[in-house]
Amino acid sequence: MNTRMLREQWAQLPEAEVRRLQASRLRDYLRRTVLPFSPHYRELFKQAGLGPDSIRTVDDLRRLPFTSKIDLVNSPDHPQRSREFILVPDPALLARRPSTLVRALLRGRERVKEGFEREFRPIFMTSTTGRSADPVPFLYSAHDLGNLALAGRRLFEVCGARRDMRLMNLFPHAPHLAYWLAHYGGEAFGAFVLSTGGGKFMGTDGHLRMIGKIKPDVLIGMPTFLYHVLHQAVEQGLRFESLKRVVLGGERVAEGLRRKLTRLAASLGAEKFDVVATYGFTEAKMAWGECPAPSDEPTSGYHLYPDLGLFEIIDPKSGEVLPPGSPGELVFTPLDARASVVVRYRTGDYIDGGMVHGRCPHCGRVVPRLVGNIRRSSEVRELHLDKLKGTLVDFNQLEHVLDDAETIGAWQLELRKQNDDPMEVDEVILHAHKVCGLDEERITRELQARFSARTEIHLNKIVFHDAEEMRSLQGVGVQLKEQKIVDHRVV
Ligand SMILES: [Zn+2]
Repeated sequence: MNTRMLREQWAQLPEAEVRRLQASRLRDYLRRTVLPFSPHYRELFKQAGLGPDSIRTVDDLRRLPFTSKIDLVNSPDHPQRSREFILVPDPALLARRPSTLVRALLRGRERVKEGFEREFRPIFMTSTTGRSADPVPFLYSAHDLGNLALAGRRLFEVCGARRDMRLMNLFPHAPHLAYWLAHYGGEAFGAFVLSTGGGKFMGTDGHLRMIGKIKPDVLIGMPTFLYHVLHQAVEQGLRFESLKRVVLGGERVAEGLRRKLTRLAASLGAEKFDVVATYGFTEAKMAWGECPAPSDEPTSGYHLYPDLGLFEIIDPKSGEVLPPGSPGELVFTPLDARASVVVRYRTGDYIDGGMVHGRCPHCGRVVPRLVGNIRRSSEVRELHLDKLKGTLVDFNQLEHVLDDAETIGAWQLELRKQNDDPMEVDEVILHAHKVCGLDEERITRELQARFSARTEIHLNKIVFHDAEEMRSLQGVGVQLKEQKIVDHRVV
């Protein structure tokens, strides 16, 4: 099957065919593109005693060591680490490709040179947004931008977009994947997409006015910011009757938050409304989405593009590859990337339902899907709750508990030292906006009970704020990304 047919039929290939095609693409990609032109992987293959033909099947991939976030971060020995992952094409090798010779004869040498430029020259960049680590830049060639648009178009299709819909992209305007994927994907899909630049550019009020004018069918953005926009619209008594869907990206989405967004949309007069989530990361240069599901049925997972990349699910401790449907850490290998390339990349993200293959019960596509909740290991932090030892706390879990609580809307967790004394223990303070008629004492009791049932954390204090105070605490309209967890422990 040629590349074009594969691109058209990506969503209808049976599992055995997908595995066969992925193996053949992987083999070709490693042999013709990664090994000859990636300084990092040439060395890694050598160290692992592997040659260009060692990896013939997807299973053979496990012979290759993983690449992790830490490999991309600068160190004194490697001041520009991420550069080691950029493909450096060798003109002499490229000239010897049989396809090059044919093209040179047919179209002339100049056109061949232009083709190589298109394929390899970095012309675009997005970067990671780690809270503590240095941002890691990831480069794209024109070839990669083509794939970004292709993945973006598919994402629009999976998320149920139609060409007659009007969409608004509320992601922050920054060199981040989410914003540009929505931009290029919208262009490739061929629907109206207004990219606002996010809260820092236009503020919440500006967004409300723009929504009033455009009357969008779909809002795309970060869950926390979209929550603020819809909440403020309800406060102002606005009507968003055209709204049919929100598409969430950039943060995980707890079930409770979906319910809260759905309720807000209902108050705004949006009758047939659904919430779909996406999952992506800088190093993949793409994201995957859920398809719309009836609100009383579970979502069917993130729909993958098997021709553009492959996932392995591993046991995070042993590194062993796990069978379909097992929970584990996501490891990604692109099958057609240029410029910055990572192979067997450990994302640090865990999927609790694993990867499955088969017909999607909602949209009928036959593609591998990542099922269940995704949580990020970078959300595990060490707290000193007593003076004896540190405790590792999974903030993913705390966020779920808070998003699931129906009595509060926006919230923020603040970490600080008791009495602001650096020698003292850590305290966890919850700032929250109550969205029900119950009194504060009762909500406090209920939240504490939820925390002790589902986490090891006792909240030292709960402070209630009105919606405006919460917006200001979270930095809506000021920060590029709303602050849900703030650490005031560093004195
Ligand atoms: Zn589906």
